[in-house]
Amino acid sequence: MFDNLSVKLERAFKTLKGQGSITEVNVATTVKEIRKALIDADVNYKVAKEVTDTIRQKALGQQVLVSVSPGQLLTKIVDEELTSLMGGEKVDIDIKGDPAVILISGLQGSGKTTFSGKLANMLKKQNRQVLLTACDVYRPAAIEQLKVLGEQIDVEVYAETDHRDPLKIAKNALAHAKAHNKKIVIVDTAGRLAVDEEMMQEITLLKEHLNPSETLFVVDSMTGQDAVNTAKTFNERLNFDGVVLTKLDGDTRGGAALSIKTVVNKPIKFISTGEKMEAIDIFHPDRMARRILG
Ligand code: GDP
Repeated sequence: MFDNLSVKLERAFKTLKGQGSITEVNVATTVKEIRKALIDADVNYKVAKEVTDTIRQKALGQQVLVSVSPGQLLTKIVDEELTSLMGGEKVDIDIKGDPAVILISGLQGSGKTTFSGKLANMLKKQNRQVLLTACDVYRPAAIEQLKVLGEQIDVEVYAETDHRDPLKIAKNALAHAKAHNKKIVIVDTAGRLAVDEEMMQEITLLKEHLNPSETLFVVDSMTGQDAVNTAKTFNERLNFDGVVLTKLDGDTRGGAALSIKTVVNKPIKFISTGEKMEAIDIFHPDRMARRILG
């Protein structure tokens, strides 16, 4: 994850090696390298420009202490700016209601079903009573996949296979949850390969009627700038509460993680780093920045 970006940033800081102080000239060279590294990592051009302009201003505005080298100073500034770019503070999901509903949205293949299982598993380990609900009525395999995951993590899965009305299924799932003392209902929905009107209407209808305390948008980070554009479209229609970045274990350039918060102004709440049920992490912007800086 972010290996290339880390290497390139390290190289950028090296341009300051042996320099006794911060000057317009040496900062300009380093900042140019940082901007190039971010763009190569698929960060949105505008975002990369804004963040590196801030880095330059901050660097030039600070006195270098004798004990801190220009390289160290710039590393610290970049750390702060990357953290802020990714949202600053971690933001928890909202779990409210009886039962609380967590609605999972996103394109087909983004990792919604896998993530639904992971989240259920994480909540179950906190001793919460969770019900998974299969609302991807177009792909029988998706319902089966959720049932298999449910069995694996020992969480009940609610599904109906005799009709194709996701809203009816979800409402029945809520009634089932109430009757069986389940406190959180995770609703896995149908995605398409690309954004289409039918999918958007279906997911907005589910949101309107189920009144979820948390609506999450799941996106494959390997899709780079497309991830950011899809997030924008979903957010305009759905006004979701948080983003889940999946497949960060792959050979991803990571640009989505670095630009999504700025572009849609919604926090990244989880990252997914593999197919196993344990491969889920709560997103901490500061930890991620530190990881990028190596
Ligand atoms: P959905 O169509 O959005 O429900 O997507 P799925 O949950 O079925 O995931 C699509 C594929 O991506 C499956 O083969 C998953 O095993 C895989 N997948 C999901 N999350 C991750 C992840 O974080 N890392 C990797 N490497 N694969 C993942």
